[in-house]
Amino acid sequence: MNKIYLDNAATTPLSSEVLNEMMPYFTSIYGNPSSVHSFGREAKHALDVARERVARGIGCDPSEIYFTSGSTEANNWALYGIATANRAKGRHIITSKIEHPSILNMCKHLEDEGFRVTYLDVDQYGFIKIDQLLHNLDSDTILVSIMTANNEVGTIQNLQAIANIVAEKGVIFHTDATQAVGAINLNVHDMGIDALSLSGHKINGPKGVGALYVRKGVKINPFMLGGEQEYGLRAGTSNIPAIVGLGKAVELATRDITTNNKKVRQLRDYFITQINKNIDLCHLNGHPVQRLPNNINMSFGMVDGESVMMLLDLQGIAVSTGSACSVGSIKQSNVLKAMGLSKDLVQGAVRFTLSKATTKEELDIVVAELIKIVQKLRQISPIGKGQVGTL
Ligand SMILES: *Cc1c(COP(=O)(O)O)cnc(C)c1O
Repeated sequence: MNKIYLDNAATTPLSSEVLNEMMPYFTSIYGNPSSVHSFGREAKHALDVARERVARGIGCDPSEIYFTSGSTEANNWALYGIATANRAKGRHIITSKIEHPSILNMCKHLEDEGFRVTYLDVDQYGFIKIDQLLHNLDSDTILVSIMTANNEVGTIQNLQAIANIVAEKGVIFHTDATQAVGAINLNVHDMGIDALSLSGHKINGPKGVGALYVRKGVKINPFMLGGEQEYGLRAGTSNIPAIVGLGKAVELATRDITTNNKKVRQLRDYFITQINKNIDLCHLNGHPVQRLPNNINMSFGMVDGESVMMLLDLQGIAVSTGSACSVGSIKQSNVLKAMGLSKDLVQGAVRFTLSKATTKEELDIVVAELIKIVQKLRQISPIGKGQVGTL
């Protein structure tokens, strides 16, 4: 059975070009970039090149890029480091209800540490409400963190408008761009973004590496204490092979965004059309146009998304749902709930995320399977909630 991978928002395969770039740093070029001898200098050079590539990809200076272990660390660090460094100015942080757990859980932690956090609502498409942002910015606000594009429903925020409003108030603006890098053009200097998180493994780079951009002049405390790596703000011997891979991945992902995405956007729209044509009671979650080119989040009425996912998996097709199944209970997606979807639609949501390698033939196979699966689930349980276990 040829397997079909439609879960590229969870992680992506490493590109061969990236792997080739990384290989020598696992074998022959193994110096520590902090060493002054020739071995160290070779590694330092690789580190510099990677930093330049990441900086070029998002439009900042290399001295504003700090390598991390991924976006989780970059998000944790941005929030904790900026909040604590600017505590004297104020204690209020604004974020949204649809952020990644690495933002939301750090916000909860900061609340325990005496910060006040406002979680902005979103509308039915997943856009934050700009007037609510304006209304909540006050003299105590020190940081606003709003993701560029949502990992579940793919909605791309009106980032420039948000950045402008936050800048006007003289407040620091951070964005989690993990899903957006390579999908939309981002120039942090032009856009007035103060801090941005990105990750390697979401853009065909290696896992366990990412970067935090922090604009020069923004106060941030270190997150890892130790040596002088990363300008003294993120200690620990640099993971050179991974960083080299990240640099290459960012370069490839951001080089030609418009042409890179044209094909995948067409496939996405084809897939949506085919589903709507062949399966009734479907609802596309997120904005129909202002969404990531590879994201389809579809609710199938009167069925359980988890069941659809598991039955597709039996056919070798990998997708995901917004909910996380734990022993005996299903935790529903906070993103879909925040968008005000009915319980039935939240329950029935399935996320398909495509890649450049996805083909029309693959999507035809998936649609054919979906038709069968949804019909079967609706038959066994006409009022909904069919369970795999009862098949
Ligand atoms: C995957 C993801 C993260 C976490 O990134 P890691 O590098 O896996 O830690 C954070 N934010 C968003 C939006 C993501 O999609």
